[in-house]
Amino acid sequence: MYDLILKGGRIYDGSGLPSFIGDVAIGNGRIEEIGKINAPADRVLDVGGLAVAPGIIDFHTHFDAQLWWEPLASSSTDHGVTTVVMGNCGLTLAPCKPEGREALIGTFVRVEAMPRESLEAGIPWEWRTHGEFLDALERRSLGLNVATLIGHCAVRQYAMGEASVERAASDAEIAEMEALVRQGMAAGAFGFSTNSNQSHYREDGKPVASRFAGLGEIARLCRAVGESRRGLVQFTHGAFATPEHVAHISQWYDTILKETRRPLIGESIRHRWSEPELWRKQLNDVEERCRQGYAAYAMTSTRPSLRRWTLKDSNRLDEIAEWKNLMHMPVELRKERLRDRQTRVKLDRATSEGKPINFSRRWDCVWVKKAALAENQALEGKTVDELARLQAKPPIDAFLDLALSEDLETTFEDSATQGDLEAVRAIFASPHVLLGQSDAGAHVANGNPGFGYATIMLAHWVRRHRIMTLEEAIKKLTFLPASLFGIHNRGLLRRGMAADLFAFDPEKIDLAPPEKVSDLPERAPRYIQRAKGIHYTIVNGSVLMENGAHKGAYPGKVLRSI
Ligand SMILES: [Zn+2]
Repeated sequence: MYDLILKGGRIYDGSGLPSFIGDVAIGNGRIEEIGKINAPADRVLDVGGLAVAPGIIDFHTHFDAQLWWEPLASSSTDHGVTTVVMGNCGLTLAPCKPEGREALIGTFVRVEAMPRESLEAGIPWEWRTHGEFLDALERRSLGLNVATLIGHCAVRQYAMGEASVERAASDAEIAEMEALVRQGMAAGAFGFSTNSNQSHYREDGKPVASRFAGLGEIARLCRAVGESRRGLVQFTHGAFATPEHVAHISQWYDTILKETRRPLIGESIRHRWSEPELWRKQLNDVEERCRQGYAAYAMTSTRPSLRRWTLKDSNRLDEIAEWKNLMHMPVELRKERLRDRQTRVKLDRATSEGKPINFSRRWDCVWVKKAALAENQALEGKTVDELARLQAKPPIDAFLDLALSEDLETTFEDSATQGDLEAVRAIFASPHVLLGQSDAGAHVANGNPGFGYATIMLAHWVRRHRIMTLEEAIKKLTFLPASLFGIHNRGLLRRGMAADLFAFDPEKIDLAPPEKVSDLPERAPRYIQRAKGIHYTIVNGSVLMENGAHKGAYPGKVLRSI
């Protein structure tokens, strides 16, 4: 007699092997059998026609505060996430002395854009050490599994107080920090995170504490992680601001890798129109470190920075002077000019000749998002380039003829990042790149929240653009992060593994529109974003979410690396 059977789904087991149809039997929180199962169970879910996969492991979140008042980690669990790693970017709420709380709050307020009043009201501060933080979390109900990193800023604040945001550490202070990292690893943290991003400041305008660390401090703290022979180091450094910063980052990479012999997640790689070749160089750097024998990884965001605009009212093309001049004309005059052949020739030349800043200047990267007229609906989703081929005319004419026929009310869409499919395919497919960077739990007022990064991957990149197989995408969202962090009993559907799964319709999975809610402590607002097409999220063998609704269970666990 099993607790739960998922019957007749197509199983994507997380390994990247081809999917197959079968049943999954669950008992005592674990996967007991996979195959053709006729035994009885307390509950049988018919998942015929759905994909069944390991739960998503979101390895880059900032749920450190939210989980104390909202144990579901919404909206992550809406998207099939069953495990989150928090404590990224050098920021954690432990270790912390009472007199250091204000400093940590000020860091979260500024770097992660969380409301101060919610943090002040919502964090119970039942701990000093990282281990006590994990114990306190264990006393709470949790919807999903939680793993932690030890944050450098918290460690530095604990050992140095306010001097942590003023100067380099002394030998004795570094020794105290080392002890804190060792304690945290001994208590079950999954590694250490640090941050040298030059745009990261506390609320009071001081740089975050980890930015004051010297190479010696980094070496010794990372060595303490390496000694545990568990976990990894996560390194946030932001854009390559100056040649000095580039050299600094490179030294930190080499030091961390050499001192730990553990995986390092650094570098955020994504395609940008302003520096369209930079991603190749970044990817080469990571690959070169791997050739030297280090476990170096980068991450990328699956969220494109989509822009929607019309030729009626938009500054989207303003970086091209010819377009900007035109867009500033009164609408009737603008329409007249857009019909003029000479103007079109000039616009076409100006678009293709200059260097992109934010706008791609490529007609294969601009598509029709919404037609204003019913008769043009069939064109939605097509790129301007595709329209041009369909209508056997130059792209500039296809673009302007459509817009003019709809009184300039056609909505076009393009993306400022991850807009070049060829680049995205190469970045996403690289074995050195993790898909994620959701920052879930942070930047709460962002109307484009990160919870649904896996849903975007499965809907936008796999279904729509077919940039990799569903098998491969599931592996990158589950087995790969589980393996790197050392969460060894999750991330795969195999007998004996923890029963974290989600079942979804690959043809229907998608983001719902973002919603503004006021559910933070002190009723501060935030954005959430639900999913479509996800039927079940199962954590440790219990159904957590069913068709977007929480079913009342809190089956999540605090994960420990020991
Ligand atoms: Zn982060």
